[in-house]
Amino acid sequence: MEHTNARIETRVIHAGQQPDPITGAVMPPVSLSSTYIQKSPGQHAGYEYSRSHNPTRYALERSVAALEGAHVADDPSHGGLAFSSGMAATGTVLELLSAGDHLIAMDDLYGGTNRLFSQVRQRSQGLMITYLDMTSGPDALEQAITDRTKMIWVETPTNPTLKLVDLTAVAQVAARHGIISVCDNTFATPMLQRPLAFGFDIVAHSATKYLGGHSDVVGGLTITNRPDLQQRLRFLQNSVGSILSPFDSYLVLRGIKTLALRMQRHCENAQQIAEWLEQHPRVTRVTYPGLPSHPQRDLARRNMFWVDEADGTGRRPAGGGMITIWLDGGLDESRRFLEAVKLISLAESLGGVESLIEHPAIMTHASVPPDQRRTLGIDDNMCRLSVGIESVDDLLADLEAAFKSI
Ligand SMILES: *Cc1c(COP(=O)(O)O)cnc(C)c1O
Repeated sequence: MEHTNARIETRVIHAGQQPDPITGAVMPPVSLSSTYIQKSPGQHAGYEYSRSHNPTRYALERSVAALEGAHVADDPSHGGLAFSSGMAATGTVLELLSAGDHLIAMDDLYGGTNRLFSQVRQRSQGLMITYLDMTSGPDALEQAITDRTKMIWVETPTNPTLKLVDLTAVAQVAARHGIISVCDNTFATPMLQRPLAFGFDIVAHSATKYLGGHSDVVGGLTITNRPDLQQRLRFLQNSVGSILSPFDSYLVLRGIKTLALRMQRHCENAQQIAEWLEQHPRVTRVTYPGLPSHPQRDLARRNMFWVDEADGTGRRPAGGGMITIWLDGGLDESRRFLEAVKLISLAESLGGVESLIEHPAIMTHASVPPDQRRTLGIDDNMCRLSVGIESVDDLLADLEAAFKSI
């Protein structure tokens, strides 16, 4: 019973997991053993050594494969793989490339992804990297492709400017040229957006964010529907050793059980707060994919929606839980505002049950070169809000009190 045909609200709870065959335990046990007994040399039950095979990690990997709509037959994880962090997942995906290969990446990326690409793999792996604003459509992407282009990497919505990439268009260009397409789906989660369904080859996640959901575990994931890529990624995961521990696999699996409920509340709260912020005199600009004012509103509706509604009809658009605002003022006003919030914590990261706020230029995106930050609009008056699942009234009151103090 893999529940792959069930609705996503059911899959978050059941997919990839069966009661333990020996004890009947409903939750997959945390399987800590590093090694497994063999009857005779080479004769084992599918488990040799825990870096290579682990039942708790497999359960998580099958769960996320089902959520992203992957099912690689003959693979114990069905196309999912769990890593020690989102960056470890990203780094392992890059190992699919060879020295001298060309990678085209969205110009607005998670700061750590930008750092890994530009400051590590360009040097250690000899990758050639082009950063491209892919919001302008497929023509610019076509023109950037060379004989050496082997991978296209996108994030959508992007971090922190919440720009969107046309997933269908990018996947079509990549497929036409035989280029591996990768989408970091951390912000939208499979509840709202499933890149494989748009034709992408690989989905990457920081499980630290919405999938874990409780700000108590660091992890990363990849999901693919292509057996060749899954086989290669599994080989790389085992070779590099960047696996998620059994206990952390259990924590992410536990978090995923409430993903559907949490995402609904994240989206409802964020929608209401974004609408409120847009009217606020101390805010000069709000970006949120659920607002009619989002510059790519139509694309937002095509990319992001509740995929499995209870009645099975239509698509209900959803904006996610992240909001970016530009305050009326500069660094001083931002500092005062960020020091004044009480319920909302000033902290990096996102996607947990609690609301967080941060200053990308000083915090999460400090590693992006200043001129690139300016081009992207990561200015001193920009703040990024990860809307949690608290009472929206309490969140609005906290924001209003903080605005009063600047
Ligand atoms: C946090 C994050 C990452 C990196 O994940 P870690 O788990 O922190 O290593 C990658 N991409 C996005 C979009 C993120 O938000």
